[in-house]
Amino acid sequence: MPPGRRWALLWDPAELGPKRVPSPAQLAALDRALAARRRCPICRLDAGYCIPRSIGSCLECASPCTATPTAA
Ligand SMILES: [Zn+2]
Repeated sequence: MPPGRRWALLWDPAELGPKRVPSPAQLAALDRALAARRRCPICRLDAGYCIPRSIGSCLECASPCTATPTAA
């Protein structure tokens, strides 16, 4: 690789225009959608993360053994 090699953008960033900003309604809808995906259908709690479709519940409900390690 020769020294002094320079890179240049293939387009002018100024031509991309203003960044798209979602409306408050879009943000609210997104928030509701994310909240619904975090809600565990078994314990009805907000898991704090999106519930994996393959499991269908939060990780605590999916693996109760690890949720209560001290329980006999
Ligand atoms: Zn759960």
